[in-house]
Amino acid sequence: MVAEVVQAAVVQVVPSAQPRINPAINIRGQNNDPDTRAEGGFPARRGITTLSSKIALLLIFLFLFAACQRDEEQSAELFVFGTIIEIKLWGASPEEAGHAFSELQQMFQGMHQHWHAWEPGRLTNINNAFAQGRSATADIDIVEMVQRSQQIEASTGGRFNPAIGALIRLWGFHTSDYPIAGPPPSQLQISEILEQKPSSSDIHINGLEMRSDNPAVQLDFGGIAKGYAVDLTIDRLRSLGINNAIVNAGGDLRAMGSHGDRPWRVAIRKPGGGNIGSVQVHGDEAIFTSGNYERFRQDQTERYPHILDPNTGWPAKDIASVTIITDEGLLADAAATALIVAGLEHWSEVAHALNLDQVAVVDEFGTVFLTPEMEKRIQYSGDADQVIVEVN
Ligand code: ADP
Ligand code: MG
Repeated sequence: MVAEVVQAAVVQVVPSAQPRINPAINIRGQNNDPDTRAEGGFPARRGITTLSSKIALLLIFLFLFAACQRDEEQSAELFVFGTIIEIKLWGASPEEAGHAFSELQQMFQGMHQHWHAWEPGRLTNINNAFAQGRSATADIDIVEMVQRSQQIEASTGGRFNPAIGALIRLWGFHTSDYPIAGPPPSQLQISEILEQKPSSSDIHINGLEMRSDNPAVQLDFGGIAKGYAVDLTIDRLRSLGINNAIVNAGGDLRAMGSHGDRPWRVAIRKPGGGNIGSVQVHGDEAIFTSGNYERFRQDQTERYPHILDPNTGWPAKDIASVTIITDEGLLADAAATALIVAGLEHWSEVAHALNLDQVAVVDEFGTVFLTPEMEKRIQYSGDADQVIVEVN
């Protein structure tokens, strides 16, 4: 329940206009350091996206059996959707880990081919079929994403809407190369798409067959793909008998079990640099952040972030980042996107509708808003000493 909000005034936090390129993966060996970082809005994935697939493949193998930092920790960095996925296992043998990593790499390759919103593959075939009023055969993962999306779109009042692929394309956000230069699309172009009201509720599912009543429906899973990929990774690890792991997709992560005799620790970063603090993972949890200034279009006067308000067709702007802790990656990912769209006025109500009680919101001026349950979780440290918490 999101009954009240704790407002934390943050000194010295101004989201920088020019995003910094941070190292994607920050493995630390010190005992008190977090095991990984939930990097709100940092461009961990940039750079990789421009590599040719051959180089990416080479890197996969170079990283596959990355050196362990500690005796019982095995780690690898794999790639999917142009994002590095860092996986750390605790207590698995090198053989078990190697087997798991190569299975996961295959799984990620399938996801990349099947779920991509603009590279030709299974999802673009489905979108073509929708546009032509035909039915198409999906796989179980896509069906699951559509079904979960339908629920989440309904609960968020349409703020999360994966059927707005045409709008995302119109804005030029079907690219891995950010920032995009140039003016926004015209209001006329935007209105033409909005008038057709694409919604995931237009999609009808019968087994693995899908069709849409509305030819304007174009699926884009950019708001949930990482979340679902992380969930499937955790499921696969479990099925292989691995129960202590952290799966970090460029700052969006899920962890399970523990790091030996202590919990996994995750730092939550602020937009503009530094940490809000860190959290210790309880059992199995997902920690996801959406930022509105990592990927954007820029013209001479303004920046247009890549998260669009499906009701207006324009980017959502007054929240810089949202971090959610819950037990499911897909929900955490979708919700972080939806809360950015909800903005400062409505995020709390949307979190409530989704039954999420652990939320951190950072506005464009760097003020941090925490739900009481999130406030209880965060251990302030380092530059988090600059956070002043006031309970309203
Ligand atoms: P990030 O992790 O980069 O902050 P998000 O998880 O918020 O990104 O997802 C943003 C992506 O989701 C966009 O690039 C686009 O593909 C898609 N998207 C944008 N706006 C919406 C929306 N309102 N609902 C669903 N998906 C969206
Ligand atoms: Mg998201």
